[in-house]
Amino acid sequence: MLLRHTPKEITERSALTINPAKTCQPIGAMYAALGINRCLPHSHGSQGCCAYHRSALTRHYKEPVMASTSSFTEGASVFGGQANLIQAIDTIFTVYDPDVIAVHTTCLSETIGDDIPQIARKAEAEGKIPKGKFVIHANTPSYVGSHVTGFANMTKAMVNYFSASNGKRSEQINIIPGYVEPADMEEIRRIAGQLGIRTVIFPDTSNVLNRPQTGKFEMYPKGGVTVRALVSTGDSKATVALGSTASWPAARALDVKCNVHCELLELPIGLTATDSFIDTLRTVAGVSVPDSINIERGRLLDIITDMHQYFYHKKVGLVGDPDQLVSLTEFLVSIDMWPIHIVTGSPGKAFDTKIREITREIPHPVNIKAGGDMFLFHQWIKNDPVDLMMGNTYLKYIARDEDIPFIRCGFPILDRIGHSYFPTVGYMGGIRLLEKILDALLDRKDRDSPEESFELVM
Ligand code: SF4
Repeated sequence: MLLRHTPKEITERSALTINPAKTCQPIGAMYAALGINRCLPHSHGSQGCCAYHRSALTRHYKEPVMASTSSFTEGASVFGGQANLIQAIDTIFTVYDPDVIAVHTTCLSETIGDDIPQIARKAEAEGKIPKGKFVIHANTPSYVGSHVTGFANMTKAMVNYFSASNGKRSEQINIIPGYVEPADMEEIRRIAGQLGIRTVIFPDTSNVLNRPQTGKFEMYPKGGVTVRALVSTGDSKATVALGSTASWPAARALDVKCNVHCELLELPIGLTATDSFIDTLRTVAGVSVPDSINIERGRLLDIITDMHQYFYHKKVGLVGDPDQLVSLTEFLVSIDMWPIHIVTGSPGKAFDTKIREITREIPHPVNIKAGGDMFLFHQWIKNDPVDLMMGNTYLKYIARDEDIPFIRCGFPILDRIGHSYFPTVGYMGGIRLLEKILDALLDRKDRDSPEESFELVM
C-alpha cells in the first residue's frame, strides 16, 4: 500500500494540496511553442524550471525537447532579467539559429515584473534579432491556472504576433486543436483533408514530438506550423477552436484582431463531440461529408452497440485536464457508463457546470471538483469504489492500492507509449478509446471469473 496514509474520512482542506492533478503554466507554453516550425521555446526565469519542463515533456513523449533559459541568478532576481534575456537572444540566434524564439515567463520573472516586450524591443534596437527572425512572448505566471492556461496563452501569442489580414478572405479554415497529443493534431488534419478543406492548424506538434528515427538529430524537426501559415490565419474564412480552456483565448483574439469568425466546440472525443466537429467543419467550409467519414462513424457506432452490455452502468473515476474531461465524460455517459468521480487540477467554475449538466441523468451521486487533487480523488474512491479509472500515470498508485482497472490518458503518461502515435479524437480515436476500455474491463472479468464462468467468447 504505497498510499496507505490516505484516510477514508474526508476533511475539508483549504491550504494543502496533495498529489496535484495539474502542473504549472510554462510547460503548456513550451509545448505550444514546439508546435511552431523552427521555433525554440525560451523560459525567462531561473534554469530549474526549464530543466524540469523539458524533462517532463521528454518523459511523456520519449523525444528530445529543446528549450533555452535566461538562467536567472540572485542578482537578476533582484534587479531584473533584462540583461539575461538580451544575452540569451543574442546567443540563441548566433548558436542555435531558430526562426522564432517563443519566450514564456516563470513565477520568478512574473513576480519581479519583467516587461518582455520592452526587453525584446531593446534587443531589436541593439541588432540582436536578425532580419526575418522573430521573438514572441506570452506571460505565463505559474500561480494562475495550470499548464493548460500556459498553452492557451502561448497559442494566443501566435495570433498577437503573427496573424495579419491583407483584406482578402481565403477559403482556408483555421483549426486550434487544443492541448492534445501530436497524433490528435494529425488526426484532425486527416479529417479536414477527407472533407477537402484547406486548413491551418496551430499549434501543431505532429512530426515534432512523434517524429521518426532517421539516424540524424534534427534540432528543428519538420513539423510545426510555419510563420507564413500563422500570418495567413488573419485572412481565413473562419476559425474552429477545440476546447474552451486551451483554444478559446486565441480564437477570440483572432476575431478581435482580424475579424475572423470563430466557432467554439468541445474537443472531438467520442461520438457526439466528433459529430459536432464534422458538422461545423462542413457548415463553415460549405462542403459535404464523404462516405469515408460516414463509414468511420458507423464503425464506432457498431462497436458501441456490439459491446454495450460490458459498458452498461460501469462506474468510472476520471482525472485530467478540463477540455478532455468534458468530452470524455459526455462519451462515457453516451455509452451508459457512470462517471461518478471527476477531478481536474485546473481551476474554473465552468467545468463544474458543464460536467453537472452532462451527468445530470446518472441515477447516482456524482463528485466533481475543479482545482482538486488526487488525494481527494482517492478518498472518493475509498468511499465509493469504481470499476475503472482513467487519467495520467500518477493514478497508478491508486489503481494498485485499490486494485482497480486503469487506463492511461491525458498528461503526463510516463510509463507507457502510444499516446503520441494513436489519436483519441475523431471516430477512429473513439474506437481506440473503446478498445482500451473493453480491454481493461474484460481483462478484469477474465481474472476474477470463477472457473465455471470463465468464458471463451465475450
Ligand atoms: S511553479 Fe514556478 S518555480 Fe515551479 S517550475 Fe513552475 S514556473 Fe518554475
